[in-house]
Amino acid sequence: MLDFRSDTVTLPTDAMRAAMANAAVGDDVYGDDPTVNELEQWSAERHGFEACLFTSSGTQANLMALMSHCQRGDEYLCGQLAHNYKYEAGGAAVLGSIQPQPVENEADGSLSFDKLAAAVKPDDYHFARTRLLSLENTIGGKVLTMEYMQQARRFCDEQGLALHLDGARVYNAAVALGVDVAEIAKPFDSITVCLSKGLCAPVGSLLLGSHELISKARRIRKMLGGGMRQVGILAAAGKLALTDQVERLADDHANAIYLGEQLNNLPGFTVQPDWINTNILYADLDASINIEHLKQHLKEAGILVSLARRTRFVTHKDVDRLAIDTLISTLSRYLSR
Ligand SMILES: *Cc1c(COP(=O)(O)O)cnc(C)c1O
Repeated sequence: MLDFRSDTVTLPTDAMRAAMANAAVGDDVYGDDPTVNELEQWSAERHGFEACLFTSSGTQANLMALMSHCQRGDEYLCGQLAHNYKYEAGGAAVLGSIQPQPVENEADGSLSFDKLAAAVKPDDYHFARTRLLSLENTIGGKVLTMEYMQQARRFCDEQGLALHLDGARVYNAAVALGVDVAEIAKPFDSITVCLSKGLCAPVGSLLLGSHELISKARRIRKMLGGGMRQVGILAAAGKLALTDQVERLADDHANAIYLGEQLNNLPGFTVQPDWINTNILYADLDASINIEHLKQHLKEAGILVSLARRTRFVTHKDVDRLAIDTLISTLSRYLSR
């Protein structure tokens, strides 16, 4: 199957499978897994933080970050479109008793500092305590600029807030901006990184922050059922995600632009090429297209797409130019019937 639904579908590389088979392991809940310890130490340094925790998922890493920064009755500011507001089953509210305060995302994915300032609550017992701003980069495939992230730091310093980055795809942002990931991380008190998306590890994310934050997060991870045992098997693949798979993301970004151009030439498809910053693009399908029928047709041709009036396409290691050409010719033949 050619799968354009997400970069989460990427299969581990042969090098990852070999590293997993040969990983030195121990019980990580006792702190005894050498491969996990090595990944966490290396990653903390690599991203410019004191400490790091390996987690089972990005959702878990975000929840641990929110619960480590905030107490019951605190609130965090985020975008209406933030993954850790909209797509994580309300975990911060349900499990952390933390109130989200979303504000509308701007067209470029950023949050307006005027709108954020208006949402910060005064110190008054009527209100939840505003503690944290959570940003996301990339967001819907769009990249927040270095300047914007530095402004966010100044805003948080003025307002007395901590600053978190949901960096599930922060390496895509680093490649698109042409900067080292540690430069992106610098303004933030904590960041999360997904190893299991475009970076191709089978499982796992990182939470990075201060020693104090990570030791709180370690307790919360245990509480959430995220303490794992011989998990070096996963950490071994995670390390290769960060050392071997980053440069390749530039191919995914070039392929997304190529796919966008090709889709834009099809009748009934509209793509805004300016919005393709990384490996995610959106196509608007007009009313002439029967979504359910086309989706089924593609599936029968061995192509998986989350087809909708506004369809998200994601490029990744396992859909190369040839796969894109196959998608386009299949669509083209269908549309000209
Ligand atoms: C995928 C994603 C997550 C969550 O990661 P999982 O490993 O799927 O739980 C968090 N934030 C963003 C922006 C994501 O894209």
